[in-house]
Amino acid sequence: MIYKSFQSIQLSRLGLGNMRLPLQDAANPKSPIDYPAAHEIIDRAYEQGINYFDTAYVYNDGDSEKCLGECMKKHPRDSFYLATKFHIGANPDYKAVFEEQLARLQTDHIDFYLIHCLMDNNIDQYLESSCIDYFLEQKAKGRITYLGFSSHAGVQTLERFADHHAWDFAQLQINYYDWLYGTTKEEYQILADRNIPIMVMEPVRGGRLADLAPEADALLQKAHPDWTIASWALRFVESLPQVQVILSGMSTMEQMEDNLHTFSEDTALENADKELLFEAAELFKSQVQVPCTACRYCCSGCPKGINIPEFLKIYNAWKVDGPWALNDMDKVESEGKPSDCIACGACMGHCPQNIKIPEYMKELGDS
Ligand code: SF4
Ligand code: SF4
Repeated sequence: MIYKSFQSIQLSRLGLGNMRLPLQDAANPKSPIDYPAAHEIIDRAYEQGINYFDTAYVYNDGDSEKCLGECMKKHPRDSFYLATKFHIGANPDYKAVFEEQLARLQTDHIDFYLIHCLMDNNIDQYLESSCIDYFLEQKAKGRITYLGFSSHAGVQTLERFADHHAWDFAQLQINYYDWLYGTTKEEYQILADRNIPIMVMEPVRGGRLADLAPEADALLQKAHPDWTIASWALRFVESLPQVQVILSGMSTMEQMEDNLHTFSEDTALENADKELLFEAAELFKSQVQVPCTACRYCCSGCPKGINIPEFLKIYNAWKVDGPWALNDMDKVESEGKPSDCIACGACMGHCPQNIKIPEYMKELGDS
């Protein structure tokens, strides 16, 4: 395991995220955690030198904190670092939450404590409550060692929160896809400009970057046949100088072993490999996404009044982000739904991009 200095301590570059621990019933996200299987993963992480363990008050309705606390109590407390988070939307009683977390984790202090999931619509709630002052008091008493926050906010909100206090660290979603096509690069820069160390979440974008599209995968495999596709994503994040710990929510031993292998030596991407990865990302994007420009030339001819570009936008999000994107189908203002498409082809004659619209409507209609 490779390490990086953080203030006066050494943190493993790979951290264990405890949000996706194995469940008793894998098909039911509400199912309790399978403690023996989860403990096997946590034990393996600890044995192999991972010393940063991340959880949150809300993960698995509290079961994640309990499971982690139960597993770690057998080790000397100064041989690992616990990170957990306070979510004001889940329970605004920060004093009670903090005490409950210490009890669940079977500890008298939290090493890395985070304001959880900063967003544009909750920043005022966090700033107007006295929770930050309270956590600073706990830090002064030694019950919190380092105070930080995790963010899913837009750049302006992030900047405002970052300037609110001299944070010890922050947690951000960083992966090469969002770096290229989202606002991640700007968010990273906001923290880098303030010299705030970054713990990274979703480096493989919830697993979506573990397998791209055939041509993109082939490009990467040709360059480094012994690297998995997921490891490219981790190596990209590792190459960013402001990044401290890279969290991975490992649910299987196979993922654990692959990640351990990746972080067994310093293999941050060099510039040439980075360029290749960006090329693969472009290929992936072009292969899975429909190149609709939202010109709407197709719409007037549709006998079913289907809002084609809006549904194609959801199609693209589905392919890149996963099935949750389909939840937005009901929100589209449209007379007809994709399932109403009669494959008449009237739209296609108007499409400058030659998109086979009925095929995508069918796929969406069947989803
Ligand atoms: S093929 Fe489907 S989407 Fe295209 S015009 Fe006909 S009904 Fe509308
Ligand atoms: S005509 Fe083609 S590019 Fe324009 S909105 Fe319709 S599907 Fe998209």
